[in-house]
Amino acid sequence: MSRISGAPFGARTTYRVGGTAAQTVEVSTVLELVEAVDAAASGPVYVLGRGSNTLVADRGFDGTVIHLGEAFATIDIDEGSATVTAGAAADLPVVARRSVEAGLTGFEWAVGVPGTIGGAVRMNAGGHGSDLATSLQSADVLDLITGTTTTWKRNELRFAYRSSAIEPHHLVLAVTLSLSPGDVDLGREALREIVRWRREHQPGGANCGSVFTNPVGDSAGRLIEELGLKGRRRGTAMVSEKHANFIQADTGGSADDVDALMAEIASEVAASTGVRLVSEVRRVGFEER
Ligand SMILES: Cc1cc2nc3c(=O)[nH]c(=O)nc-3n(C[C@H](O)[C@H](O)[C@H](O)COP(=O)(O)OP(=O)(O)OC[C@H]3O[C@@H](n4cnc5c(N)ncnc54)[C@H](O)[C@@H]3O)c2cc1C
Repeated sequence: MSRISGAPFGARTTYRVGGTAAQTVEVSTVLELVEAVDAAASGPVYVLGRGSNTLVADRGFDGTVIHLGEAFATIDIDEGSATVTAGAAADLPVVARRSVEAGLTGFEWAVGVPGTIGGAVRMNAGGHGSDLATSLQSADVLDLITGTTTTWKRNELRFAYRSSAIEPHHLVLAVTLSLSPGDVDLGREALREIVRWRREHQPGGANCGSVFTNPVGDSAGRLIEELGLKGRRRGTAMVSEKHANFIQADTGGSADDVDALMAEIASEVAASTGVRLVSEVRRVGFEER
């Protein structure tokens, strides 16, 4: 376990912009989880996965970042029962590829989502017609307030579109996924097709995927594109030319520029269409909007 003061936080997100955290707790073993519980007692905490859905304000976060190390990235596959048990720090694309190689199907969608299992539970990440809720059987969750770990069944997680019952004081430790027997070659082909589709439709560079959730029955990207906002720039942040619901940050840029551009887009969409766009990205250290 290590406890670090003033460690980079924004730099550990896929946006690669934003400030530091007052304190960071790196948890390397199950025994060290007690440090995470101690940290939670002293103020706000933010559990960090890969930071692929996190935007940290330039002024930083006045709280504790908790990060699970490699010991929590294990992936165990039981082909017989078609179940996968994965640690919360396991990367989604790795779980997707390992499942396919084990002859299982149902998790291919995750190959293009650059986050962890833990982040995917909190967000109910999804794509290509599926989401985490579809295959999740149960999750082991540590309550950072009470210090107790319990196994939550899928219905207890109350999954909905890009949301779940996981709150900031919950630390997902591991999940069990229920998949189906599949064909390895078909699975590999599905992975290739998803990766190809993503390269064609989504930009590279520093971003967090979609910044806004889709309004019911519509697409945030469509609404933004129809207003001609692709390419709109605010300082070091720009609406992607390739996908209107992606905002890209320049190298060495500012998280506050990204956030200001989000506010500008939401305000223009609301003024022209009446639709109130809701942030999908977790904003940390910013004023509430
Ligand atoms: C290029 C790109 C494409 C993307 N495409 C998609 C997509 O198709 N579909 C989609 O849904 N998302 C997509 N995303 C967003 C993102 O990858 C997902 O939301 C992912 O699940 C976030 O995982 P993370 O580990 O990076 O979470 P983080 O950004 O680290 O955290 C996100 C949230 O989860 C919480 N969290 C993280 N780990 C834990 C844990 N162990 N226990 C409890 N809470 C935790 C955090 O506190 C925070 O609230 C994309 C992002 C990028 C950069």
